[in-house]
Amino acid sequence: MSTRIHYTKPSITEREVELATDAARNGWGERCYDYIVRFEQAFADHLGVKHAIATSSCTGALHMGMAALGIGPGDEVIMGDINWIASAAPVTYLGAKPILVDVLRDTWCLDPEQVEASITPRTKAILAVHLYGNLCELGQLLEIGKRHGIPVIEDSAEAIGSVFEGARAGSIGAFGTFSFHGTKTLTTGEGGMWVTNDSELFERVRTLSNHGRRAGEDRQFWPNEVGFKYKMSNVSAAIGCGQMERIEELIARKRAIFAYYRSGLAGLPLRINPPDAPGRVHGYWMPTFVVDEGVPFDRSLLLARFKECNIDGRVFFWPLSETGHFESRHVTPVSKSLSIRGVNLPSYHDLTEEEMDRVVSIVRDDLQKPG
Ligand SMILES: *Cc1c(COP(=O)(O)O)cnc(C)c1O
Repeated sequence: MSTRIHYTKPSITEREVELATDAARNGWGERCYDYIVRFEQAFADHLGVKHAIATSSCTGALHMGMAALGIGPGDEVIMGDINWIASAAPVTYLGAKPILVDVLRDTWCLDPEQVEASITPRTKAILAVHLYGNLCELGQLLEIGKRHGIPVIEDSAEAIGSVFEGARAGSIGAFGTFSFHGTKTLTTGEGGMWVTNDSELFERVRTLSNHGRRAGEDRQFWPNEVGFKYKMSNVSAAIGCGQMERIEELIARKRAIFAYYRSGLAGLPLRINPPDAPGRVHGYWMPTFVVDEGVPFDRSLLLARFKECNIDGRVFFWPLSETGHFESRHVTPVSKSLSIRGVNLPSYHDLTEEEMDRVVSIVRDDLQKPG
């Protein structure tokens, strides 16, 4: 049987092992935050932001950031219908409602017109998720946000390496969040990061992230308010420090994998993640294709064929409106159509060209078979 082609898998070298070992051996007592501080600093420098707070997950980072914006019961947060549940769940933790709107056909991200049309007096944020590393229409979204006095949040969990008009994804909105789950471009096993250039918002999240204890509070163990506990461990942060030393390599490899698939899939009746464009560079966290509408395509047959060939392919995210957990106020035909025709391709850093050839030839056979 041919070797297994995983869907994702982190790229870990001796350097990450060395730093994690050091953290496990020495990172206690006075040094228990050393790697956390170092990781936060390295990440902030990479992104070009003033402030970064390492968290145990991106979900937690979103929860704290939205709480800091004052989002609460009865409020509404506009987001794309087609998304991973982790972007919507924190909205519900605060008693607010995700308002699910349709996405654009090419970028699979928020349609600015739909966003503007769904704003109500209760709208408290626009949650721009850069899906699969594709960039949202940030220029238009920020302009709409500004006009209506609504902050734009960037869930950049999938957008390490993506750059919008000279600024890295996640550094542009009111705040940005990242995930370092084992499937993401950069990993700490589990983990996340909350980033901003807004010093007031940073202080607010810093207090919330420390069980509501304000910096400078003299009394030990004194909570100034009820906060959260979503901290990253020093051992995880040590792995993150090793990954940060390699971040350009990790991004470059994702981009090279995408380029290889793009040429392999050329000429087939499908769309893949958008190409770089003036002012836009994509991190290509996960190469994904969507078969053109009207082309006969049974995704379950393709995934079954992958499985037979020891390849792990995955489906595109589901429209959240179809999960039954959320109100669906708006129609979202693009999201619904993308969902059933989309497939994620294996994209871990160590994937070889021979392995990608195996994947491509199955897709080609599937889409070129006689009618
Ligand atoms: C992975 C992911 C998350 C969740 O990250 P966790 O670290 O698992 O909480 C949130 N949003 C998006 C867009 C993601 O891809």
